[in-house]
Amino acid sequence: MTDCLFCKIVAGDIKADIVHEDEHCIAFKDINPKATTHLLVIPRQHICNLYDIKPEHDHLLTHLIKTIPLIAKAQNLDNGFRTVTNTGEGSGQEVFHLHFHILGGGPLNPL
Ligand code: ADP
Repeated sequence: MTDCLFCKIVAGDIKADIVHEDEHCIAFKDINPKATTHLLVIPRQHICNLYDIKPEHDHLLTHLIKTIPLIAKAQNLDNGFRTVTNTGEGSGQEVFHLHFHILGGGPLNPL
């Protein structure tokens, strides 16, 4: 999608501090970190959010969920991490390309 910020990061048109990339997804540092370590994991494919998930995304979603802890481990988040995904304006979603926040590396406020 041409006017999507995260699609532009996937395409390399906007620079990001990428910490992981593979066939299906990339992960990069959040530009406005809300934790000591704050990463975003996104599919290369444009999907708006969880409301946009279709049956053909099953394999991709499994890959994302399995890759998140590998990325966290590689970032030394051995003590644990939080994963958040906002869905829709009512949740505070600002970038409408599915992304999982990974937060950790220090104290987090209880939910
Ligand atoms: P929220 O901003 O309320 O967390 P989202 O869940 O849509 O809403 O999160 C978008 C995230 O993308 C934010 O944490 C924001 O700091 C991050 N972000 C926006 N632009 C960039 C960018 N160019 N590079 C890295 N992270 C970005």
